[in-house]
Amino acid sequence: MIVVMKPDATPAQIDHMAHHILSLGLTPQVIHGKHQTVIAALGEERPGLTEVLEPGEGVEKVLPIMAPYKRASSELKRERTVVRARDLEIGGTQVAAIAGPCSVESEDQIVGLARKLKQLGAQGLRGGAFKPRTSPYSFQGHKELGLRMLATARAETGLAIVTEVMAPEHVALVAEYADVLQIGARNMQNYQLLQAVGDAGKPVLLKRGMSATIDEFLLAAEYVLDRGNSQVILCERGIRTYEDHTRFTLPLATVPYLHEKSHLPVVVDPSHGTGKSRLVVPMSRAAVAAGADGLIVEVHDDPEHAVSDGAQTITPGAFALLMEQCRRIAEAVDRIM
Ligand code: PEP
Ligand code: MN
Repeated sequence: MIVVMKPDATPAQIDHMAHHILSLGLTPQVIHGKHQTVIAALGEERPGLTEVLEPGEGVEKVLPIMAPYKRASSELKRERTVVRARDLEIGGTQVAAIAGPCSVESEDQIVGLARKLKQLGAQGLRGGAFKPRTSPYSFQGHKELGLRMLATARAETGLAIVTEVMAPEHVALVAEYADVLQIGARNMQNYQLLQAVGDAGKPVLLKRGMSATIDEFLLAAEYVLDRGNSQVILCERGIRTYEDHTRFTLPLATVPYLHEKSHLPVVVDPSHGTGKSRLVVPMSRAAVAAGADGLIVEVHDDPEHAVSDGAQTITPGAFALLMEQCRRIAEAVDRIM
């Protein structure tokens, strides 16, 4: 339920309603908007609540939240959420650029690449130290050593580090190094992991599961938000369909649809979304045109010899072109990049 307070409701009345909600066995979340304050009453809904809450002093009206996800819903919060980590700002007027290799391979590789990406206008550096691989025989990542290499690249460039965490028991370690904790597509419904990153208090980039519906995606975000962590970035990275000309199918209607349903920022991953390097720049342009709040792109100095995902990885030269073209498109949709 949402308790909408009158514009002139006093702090005491707001406080009283929050306590009243708590006494009903629900969790109150006070949201101060530009014009008025609303209090979300979160928990299992039951009949008769409206009648109990509506007579409260300073209450204008009580509304149900129709969406199954509550904290993530734009019914609860209309103002857009802006997630910040160092110079990386996602959800404001800027279209953010996060770039880097699929896997962190060596210190020289990640530091050299980070310098180029920074110069080309990226604000975030991606790179996997813990890698979820389809085959157990594939490279699994340099783990803590890889995290240290990322930290060196950040010290050299100031780029915010976006890196994946795969297990609840690794959250503390990865959070020591990362600026943004990435939850991979394969873990989107790993609820204990979602709760653990919710507790870590660091921004979270949540990738859409390859067979998840939008409601399931937003309910996964809800797990993080429900732990009191409001810094969640949604990432469309493509879904599995019958189509096999691309690695996944990248549905860009997700971007405006998520913006309608949720206040959380949305980034697009055209690398995993297509699996083909030559499609990455055009789909980046399309994502910015569709209103994406950011891009997360795989870049490598020598994609042919990348240890993972080389086929969908672009060179720094192609990334320069991507930035140049996307900047122009961003301007056309009243954003900057
Ligand atoms: C990645 O970002 O390298 C990755 C493994 O992504 P996803 O979880 O979307 O497959
Ligand atoms: Mn990858």
